[in-house]
Amino acid sequence: MKRKSMKNAGIIGAGIAGLAVAIRLARSGWDVDVFEQAGNAGGKLNEFSLDGFRFDTGPSLFTLPHLLYELLDDDLRIPIRKLEVVTRYFYEDGIVINAFADPERFAAEVAEKSSDSQSAVLRYLKKAALIYRITSPVFIFNSLHRLKKLLTLGNLKRALQLPRIQATSNFHTKNSSAFSDPRIIQLFDRFATYNGSNPFAAPATLQVIAHLEHNLGAYFPEKGMYAIVEVLQQQAERLAVQFHFSTPVELVLAGKQGPKTLMIDGQQRDFDLLVSDVDIHYFYETLLADSGRFKKLRQDDPSSSALIFYWGMKEQYSQLDLHNIFFSKSYKTEFDCLFQQKTISDDPTVYVYVSSKLNAEDAPDGMENWFVMVNAPADIGQNWADIRNQVRTQIIQKLERLLEQPVGANIVSEQVWDPPGIERKTASVGGAIYGASSNSMFSAFRRHPNFRNELPGVYFVGGSVHPGGGIPLCLASAKIVGDLVGEKEGGYA
Ligand SMILES: Cc1cc2nc3c(=O)[nH]c(=O)nc-3n(C[C@H](O)[C@H](O)[C@H](O)COP(=O)(O)OP(=O)(O)OC[C@H]3O[C@@H](n4cnc5c(N)ncnc54)[C@H](O)[C@@H]3O)c2cc1C
Repeated sequence: MKRKSMKNAGIIGAGIAGLAVAIRLARSGWDVDVFEQAGNAGGKLNEFSLDGFRFDTGPSLFTLPHLLYELLDDDLRIPIRKLEVVTRYFYEDGIVINAFADPERFAAEVAEKSSDSQSAVLRYLKKAALIYRITSPVFIFNSLHRLKKLLTLGNLKRALQLPRIQATSNFHTKNSSAFSDPRIIQLFDRFATYNGSNPFAAPATLQVIAHLEHNLGAYFPEKGMYAIVEVLQQQAERLAVQFHFSTPVELVLAGKQGPKTLMIDGQQRDFDLLVSDVDIHYFYETLLADSGRFKKLRQDDPSSSALIFYWGMKEQYSQLDLHNIFFSKSYKTEFDCLFQQKTISDDPTVYVYVSSKLNAEDAPDGMENWFVMVNAPADIGQNWADIRNQVRTQIIQKLERLLEQPVGANIVSEQVWDPPGIERKTASVGGAIYGASSNSMFSAFRRHPNFRNELPGVYFVGGSVHPGGGIPLCLASAKIVGDLVGEKEGGYA
């Protein structure tokens, strides 16, 4: 029940971070309204059905599930399965490597299928764990922009260990020194794509992602990824959060002393606190009134986007697991194309996610729902119709070659999502899926903070601000903002 004395918070966007921050604010006593332009919650983390197939639209890989569970009442904690094999990797030479979550099994598989040793993998994962221990309290679960919080004894001790995390070397160089087999280097280089970055430019600290998958584990909600959104919305509603769907915010009026007002359907709504869960570039370029008073955003280039084919397949493929990667012959060519030529190479790495492997309800009997994705550059006006056609043909040829089974002829339903489509649906500029890329060692410091002094009472969450994109980091941004609001605004009283 709402109390009359409660202060009110307006949240723009019901993406995963908007939902999480709504729960955190409502729990600490705020009266919360969430405005979402789409007809349902989730943003990039969404779903749709087509001809009896159900598809998750965006994220498919889920790590750090405790960040979800800590938001939920006990009875809402949906079953989440730990994966035995995180990803099945297919190479052009016919080798298939199962990346077992268990470090020992993964290392044994690498040793059996490549020229790299078990101990090289275990050493790498141990180092990844160390980097996580040193960096996560500072860079993931903390606002980098509150000196008081940064200058703690614990963080100073961590700072002394910074040389050990090799922030100054690049990720590919690091992986090439840890492994000798090009297939294994490529496998570990791939972790840079988890935040839309280029392994040949991103810092070696991204090694930490291997720790999330192989030491801490990858997970899958039994009803598919959209179950995460459903349960967060349910929790928020239980806390009396009001959702307004199909309700775009048209303008944000905010300033040093000024109001915190949202223009919605031509009407003003005043709040004590605002939280933006929309792409930060879109916030300044489109939503914030009089935003010319702020300096141009200093951020790295946009992260990669994606070209996704959702295919209903009339056959089942026993060679496939839940997450499958079909590697390109040359990662260097692929990333030069993505980040320099801003196009997709003619041999892209292909990711195939088949949720019906674990949730049979996602496809009709005897069939499978394929989410087939290649990395794509953010939209700068490329001819996407041509690119879509070319890439579709290349993907089908590659999958048929490596699976030794027809693919094209088995597609019975199809939908496509490209970078302009991602921008249209979620307002992420250029369709970049992780905000800015992490293609330099300073990227972490250049991400937009979760607040700014010139806009008191306005906070920022989501994949385009600190600490970054991907479900766990979006949930972390909501946690940071929950703490900041508690500190700066003193709860609701
Ligand atoms: C294809 C794809 C694959 C991905 N794979 C993974 C993965 O495997 N694992 C992983 O962890 N992450 C993955 N991600 C990234 C992850 O989906 C995002 O980082 C995360 O979902 C972003 O959440 P968010 O809260 O920042 O905002 P978004 O999901 O971008 O939501 C923002 C919301 O704001 C709304 N909005 C925009 N403008 C307005 C307005 N004016 N008024 C009202 N509402 C507005 C939008 O409609 C949207 O609902 C993937 C993303 C994509 C697209």
